[in-house]
Amino acid sequence: MPLYGGTALDGVYEAAHAGGYGFIASNITHPEIAYGLLAGAEASNTDLVLQVKRDTLEYLGRGNVANGLDVVGTSLDALAGDVGVFLNVDHVDATDEELRQIVTAHSAPASIMIDASDRPFDENVAETRTLVEEVRAAGDALVEAELGTIAGTESGQTTTDAAYTDPAEAVAFVQQTGCDLLAVSIGTEHGVAAGRDLELRIGLAEEIDTALRAAGLDVPLVVHGSSGLSADQIAALLETGVCKLNVNTRYQYEYARTAAVFYREHATAILPPADVDDDRERLFGDADWAPDRAVFDPRVLGREVRERIATVHVELASIAGSRGRSRCT
Ligand SMILES: [Zn+2]
Repeated sequence: MPLYGGTALDGVYEAAHAGGYGFIASNITHPEIAYGLLAGAEASNTDLVLQVKRDTLEYLGRGNVANGLDVVGTSLDALAGDVGVFLNVDHVDATDEELRQIVTAHSAPASIMIDASDRPFDENVAETRTLVEEVRAAGDALVEAELGTIAGTESGQTTTDAAYTDPAEAVAFVQQTGCDLLAVSIGTEHGVAAGRDLELRIGLAEEIDTALRAAGLDVPLVVHGSSGLSADQIAALLETGVCKLNVNTRYQYEYARTAAVFYREHATAILPPADVDDDRERLFGDADWAPDRAVFDPRVLGREVRERIATVHVELASIAGSRGRSRCT
């Protein structure tokens, strides 16, 4: 199956918004994470929302974001299996003209998130509306916008003061911009928030959703910085019109944790003992000791990472309620 576009994604979110369930939108920062997520989504028969930010496009495109988006789009188009796979470009900064033009013109993204939430209301509206017009002119991709300020660390930028989203402003914002999804600030944080007491205002998400629906606006809410949320908190948010929960940090940690345990366990099969010459050139041909290919083949760790990421995604899709509900099979 190919990568799906905005029209199909619109139907997927509409069903979720009406049905009171949601999707974990999973950031890809490394190919093994993407492979694991694809496997997890197929195992749980959920449609899959994958996300990339500028820094990942740079990483995968060797510094060139257009090449990075080609790599991601082409790879996912080739690898997407029996469920719907959608690509969202996450946190496109409003001032980033280069990235705006690249993602708007590209066929791969089913949705694009513009971030002008650090601007005053009117500027946020103007920037978002401009992107909505550009995207509508170019194709069928959806636009996610953000109102309010989410604290935490996003691509190295740290925001300390959260500003909660105001329900009345949310209605005016959606009416004036025509955005398809609205990211709200209700107390989550970008980056690692686990272990801290989040002042999560679930009632505020409810108020925003109620206000939007009362105004006749069918706009799913998005929660960024969901890595630190408990299953109970996610379940409660899904009752309030939240249909997309962004998870990035959790997968990065699971990758690192899997790798750390693996290499600690197998260190003596890779690192030569102190009394053996460090003869990498001849792969220790003269020594009694030899490194173990069954361990140092990078695919051995890669498979473990994929399995772990798949397991985590199956758990998260169960909590979000999308498990068993693929509409694109
Ligand atoms: Zn975010």
